[in-house]
Formats: sequence, structure tokens, C-alpha cells
Amino acid sequence: AAQPFDYESHLKNRYIQSTSLKIAIIGFGNFGQFLSKTFLRHHTLLAHSRTNYADLANHLGVSFYADPHDLFEQHPDVVVLSTSILSTETLLQKLPFQRLRRNTLFVDVLSVKEFPRNLFLKYLPPDFDILCTHPMFGPESGKTSWAGLPFVYDKVRIGDEESRIKRCDKFLDIFEKEGCRMVEMSCMEHDKYAAGSQFVTHTMGRVLEKFGLESSPINTKGYETLLNLVENTKGDSFDLYYGLFMYNQNALEQLERLDMAFESIKKDLFGRLHQVYRKQLFGDNNGEVEKKRSLAQQLLGNGSLTEPPLDNVRQDGS
Ligand code: NAP
Repeated sequence: AAQPFDYESHLKNRYIQSTSLKIAIIGFGNFGQFLSKTFLRHHTLLAHSRTNYADLANHLGVSFYADPHDLFEQHPDVVVLSTSILSTETLLQKLPFQRLRRNTLFVDVLSVKEFPRNLFLKYLPPDFDILCTHPMFGPESGKTSWAGLPFVYDKVRIGDEESRIKRCDKFLDIFEKEGCRMVEMSCMEHDKYAAGSQFVTHTMGRVLEKFGLESSPINTKGYETLLNLVENTKGDSFDLYYGLFMYNQNALEQLERLDMAFESIKKDLFGRLHQVYRKQLFGDNNGEVEKKRSLAQQLLGNGSLTEPPLDNVRQDGS
């Protein structure tokens, strides 16, 4: 009587095995753990990290290997690199690739793309497939759902064989099935766009965090957006932020543009304040002049500008 059930479950297991991947995550920190919770729904997960996360991994249902040799001897179909941008090169130089199967798929999820792409092409054996990706969300922004969140990928090197193409598609399917907005673009294009959006977002989040934004009983919608921005970026490590700056060649230009924009806004504000001050000094002769003048002086005293130099006053007055 139990036969039909056994047969069904046998078929189900075979189906799961044929559609599931054995995925090894290297770097089981903040982002590695976050990804693994979703990967686990359809795939078998293994992990390795500098820190020993054995208990935590065990709790999640991930097999943890303290030694990368042991991990690679399990012959995963896919190896996902989720380590800090800064440690990538040193790590790649130490990994025992010879223990993996010859046609393993290597994936990275780093927030910069040209850098890992070039390192993969330099250090990985030529038989390995390479998929560079950037899930453009994290434990905060993707806490409840990944639906509609952008996932950028570049199939840098995928062999022609059907099995290799399918394996890569199966991996991409994880994000597609979660409803991510799938964006295929080159690593170079990604870095250009990301410097103007992601790096600027992180910078503003960090500036506002240092500034010390606090919630108040009369928060406006705009202010709530700023508070959310700080919340979204403050969980990320400084290593991550520094990596965005160091390893995206467009980041420095964006930082300088931000600096210039801030200076320009300040100039607009203080420039207008000077005009008011001058008008009151030379153009307005009603009895309120003294009062307004002292108000302008007070405001100028609080800002970074001092009173206009005497030369200017003379020129304007002549
Ligand atoms: P992270 O600070 O960028 O990286 C932490 C991870 O790197 C940990 O697994 C850590 O291992 C490992 N690591 C750091 N230094 C190492 C070293 N010298 N040798 C070996 N491993 C080292 O923070 P993260 O948020 O977990 O990000 C991981 C990767 O995902 C980064 O490349 C990041 O750009 C990318 N990413 C992050 C997000 C996000 O929202 N957080 C989103 C998209 C992509 P241990 O924990 O074992 O020390």
C-alpha cells in the first residue's frame, strides 16, 4: 500500500536532484548568510569562511567547512565568492582550485564588477565558467522580498556545452524566481552606473549618519526617506564602502562632484544673504535698518562666511 507514495517521493527527489545545484559559498559573513537563506529553498548549500561559522551554518542547514580543501573536495557545481572586495585577490591566490571539478562555475557577488572580472580571468583555470553578478540589494533592502530589486549579471565566460549553459541559467533562475529585475550588462557599464548611484547613496547615508539624524514627532515623508537611507547603509561594513571607492575607478570623480555640488549650494545660500545685507546697508533707509542689519550679522556669524570685505563695500557703494 505504501508503494505509490514511495514511488512519488522517489520521483520528487529525483526531480529535485535534477533541478538543484550544489552551491559553495566562500565568505559566510553578512551578505553570504543573507543569500544562503534564499538559495537553500531549492539548492544544497556548503560554505567556507575565514571565521568559523559552523554552529550558525548548521542551524541554517548549510554544511560548513573550515578548510577550503575539504569544501572543494565536495565538488560543488557552483562556487559563489561573497568575500570583501578588499580581500578578493589574496583569497583567490590561496584557493585550491585543483580540488574542484574541471568545469566548475565561478560566480561573484561583489559590489564592483570590473575588478573581480579581471581577477577571475587572471587566476581561475581556463576551463572554469565565469559569471559576474551584483545583487543590488542587501539584508536591509531585501529583508522581506527580492521582488522588483535589480540583479545585474555578466556572463563573462560560459562554455558552449548545453550542461554549462543550463547550470548558469539554473543559478540565474534563483533570482528570477524571486522576482528580481534581471539586468544583463557588461561589468564596465555596471561600474559606470554604480558609481553614480550606489556609491553616492552609500556616501550620503554615511554623511547623514555622521551628521546624527534623529527621528522626531513631526517627521515628514522626505525626512523619513533620509532616516531609511541611514538605516539601509549603516549595516554595511566600512570595508565594503571603501571597496566601492577603491575598486571602482569612477568613484573618485563622483565624490568630487558631490563636494562641488555641496559647495555650490552653500555659495547660493550665502550669496543671497550677502545681497540682503548689502541692500540694508546701502539701499534701505527706513528705521528698521539697524534691526535687520543685526539679524543679518547674526546669520552670517552662524554660517562660515564673515562680513563682506571693506573693498567690496566701497565698490558697491560707489
Ligand atoms: P564585507 O565586509 O564586504 O565582506 C565580509 C566578508 O568578507 C566576510 O565573509 C568575511 O569573512 C570576508 N573577509 C573579509 N576580509 C577577509 C580576509 N582578509 N580573508 C578572507 N575573508 C575575508 O561585507 P558583506 O556585506 O558580507 O559583503 C560581502 C560581499 O558582498 C562584498 O563583496 C560586497 O561588495 C558584496 N555585496 C554586499 C551587499 C550588502 O548589502 N551587504 C550587497 C551586494 C553585494 P569572515 O566573516 O569569515 O571574517
